[in-house]
Amino acid sequence: MAFEQQLRIPGPTPLPQRVVRAQSRPMINHRGPEFVEMFAEIISGLKRSLRTENDVLLFPASGTGGLEAAVANLLSPGESTLFCTVGAFGERWAKIARSFGAEVVHLAMPWGESLDPDDIDRTLAEHPDIDTVFVTHNETSTGVTTDIAAIAAVVKGRGKLLAVDSVSGAGCLPLEVDALGLDVVVTGSQKGWMAPPGLTMISVSAAAYERSAKATCARWYFDFAREKRFQDKHQTATTPPLSVLYALHEGLRLIEEEGIENVWARHARVGAMVRTGVTAIGLELFATEGFRSNTVTAIRNPSESADTLKHLLATLNTKHGLILAGGQRELQGHIFRIGHLGMVDDSDVYAILATLELALANLGMLSRTGLSVAAAQTLARFGDGATQPTPIG
Ligand code: PLP
Repeated sequence: MAFEQQLRIPGPTPLPQRVVRAQSRPMINHRGPEFVEMFAEIISGLKRSLRTENDVLLFPASGTGGLEAAVANLLSPGESTLFCTVGAFGERWAKIARSFGAEVVHLAMPWGESLDPDDIDRTLAEHPDIDTVFVTHNETSTGVTTDIAAIAAVVKGRGKLLAVDSVSGAGCLPLEVDALGLDVVVTGSQKGWMAPPGLTMISVSAAAYERSAKATCARWYFDFAREKRFQDKHQTATTPPLSVLYALHEGLRLIEEEGIENVWARHARVGAMVRTGVTAIGLELFATEGFRSNTVTAIRNPSESADTLKHLLATLNTKHGLILAGGQRELQGHIFRIGHLGMVDDSDVYAILATLELALANLGMLSRTGLSVAAAQTLARFGDGATQPTPIG
């Protein structure tokens, strides 16, 4: 293919040119002064973006490593704990906890729906022995964003520890870690941070460190206390993936230059434009209204057949260089997903929508083109629900 592909899956995400150049720099001594300086800047950038004074620990791992680290540091075998899940990644997290010997009380919502904080409150009232709650902020498999502020109010109101999977939310969606009192927040370099996969970043509160000192789940590599000792000296306990750190450093600079509130606003606008564009051509959103993610949009299969959806995604890829994601597990063949996080702006939305619309029309699934981009443009110009002014002249 002569042109670059448009990678619009919900991570890994496309890399800005500045990040690509940064990650190609030569290796440095990870115990030397150059590293210390870079690492300190990375940590302070992450703290500012996450709105926290807590430590942010970095481990060379994918997001799942971060989820495992949270379990291994917060729980003890046999301990009762609550997992509130809305899709595949939440269920994976609960599975990790079971494999570490925890007794999981599972508040599992049907996929596509969000969590009701009252259900969480009721479950905690029924299980007073539970000390820690695990919740997904942005469920990438279903395109659902939970109301983490309302959930935090309930969980912290009961004095419990709260661990949050924001692998695909942090850095894109508003997340005030300290104001909400979130004890552990897990994210990953390949999502909103505009870096390649390879690092999980975890914010850890003082209460989470205290718990970790008492928790007895087996751990070594992911031990918060050991990592903290090194990171207090602006080093990592083991050899870090330097190229990914270079990239993250530059990604954070881009975020700082734009301003985190502007980054949140851009994701909100882009998310709304995608939803408006796809619904304008009759596609159906999978997630419940009010909880639709601004980083990933899940869309129901517009045909009856899983094969047709497979063909649509393959055609987008081979003919147009647009890579979208299918559904995971039981959603395979039933939905497809557009990732719009990290390096994404209005012009990317227009390209995605126009390409998708054309492919649908070519497959005989739409009778005309030209509606989705127009709907997104109108939203970008006039905002939600605004009427178009009368043209001059
Ligand atoms: N949690 C969420 C919400 C995710 O989106 C992902 C990955 O897409 C993960 C966890 C797991 O991350 P990884 O695939 O990097 O292990």
